[in-house]
Amino acid sequence: MEGRADLHIHTTHSDGAYSARAIVGHARRAGLTTISITDHDSTGAIDEAIAVGRACGVAVIPGVELSASLDGQDVHILGYFLDHTHDGVQAHLQVLRRERLRRAERIVGRLNDLNVPLPFEAVLDQAGHGSIGRPHIAHAMLELGLTQTYHEAFLKYIGSGRPAYERHAKMTPREAVALIAMAGGLSFIAHPGASVTDDMLKTLISDGVDGIETVHPCHPPEREAFYAGIAAEYFLLTSGGSDFHGTKKHGPVYLGTSTIPEPWVAAMRRRLFDRPQVRGLDFPPTGIPPAAGFLGSGTA
Ligand code: AMP
Ligand code: FE
Ligand code: FE
Ligand code: ZN
Repeated sequence: MEGRADLHIHTTHSDGAYSARAIVGHARRAGLTTISITDHDSTGAIDEAIAVGRACGVAVIPGVELSASLDGQDVHILGYFLDHTHDGVQAHLQVLRRERLRRAERIVGRLNDLNVPLPFEAVLDQAGHGSIGRPHIAHAMLELGLTQTYHEAFLKYIGSGRPAYERHAKMTPREAVALIAMAGGLSFIAHPGASVTDDMLKTLISDGVDGIETVHPCHPPEREAFYAGIAAEYFLLTSGGSDFHGTKKHGPVYLGTSTIPEPWVAAMRRRLFDRPQVRGLDFPPTGIPPAAGFLGSGTA
């Protein structure tokens, strides 16, 4: 039988609940042949995952999920096959994680101003060595009984547009694509169905992404088919995965339920082989007029 891959997984190096070692074990038991670890602004789990995967027959693709902002909207960009040992990329990721820490502090400050007595230390405990984010704040609030559920924290306080929300000091998607390209990786628009309008999709394609994450738990079949059509029209790659965080919401069984066939991974490898050395080049290449059709329609 053809192997299956899950290319969107978080670990304790960001807001996931499981270590790299545990994730690879769950992946093997779920029968996956390839996975990618895609922590937010961190590649800290990759080396361990590759080593454990090698020992038990699960291929591990280096990955990362970058937070970008387009016209004030959150856009996540996935990077695959990047050289995670690249000094320039690591320096950038470190800055992004430092910004996350400052933002988390600001969010906790806002919560305290709203008379929610959440100590910042409780959030730091949740984050451990991981790249800090709002899920750590939500878990700390839940544990201290400051909310009844994890989701309530987002709905009442820290979700987009709620009173304790703070924006990331974010880069543009174009910069995220350039950062991934600098380390020789392929970039994909993450879960576009979550927040990306069709106009934003056009901009992101023009920004030079290599593909679209068509398969994601938040995409119903018709969305998946829509994105697959766009990808085919513009010769883009397709990817997918479970966006597994291993929280109480998603038990380990969730790993392996949102997967892609191995030939999609093979197509990515071919693209890496086919394309010219990208390090140091501007993205997208200039001088190419926009295509007709989806990109050419509308006013964006
Ligand atoms: P951050 O990177 O700090 O902006 O946090 C983003 C993460 O928070 C996402 O990857 C989701 O896992 C989670 N998240 C964002 N909005 C919500 C929401 N409304 N309900 C539950 N989780 C959310
Ligand atoms: Fe996350
Ligand atoms: Fe995401
Ligand atoms: Zn994710």
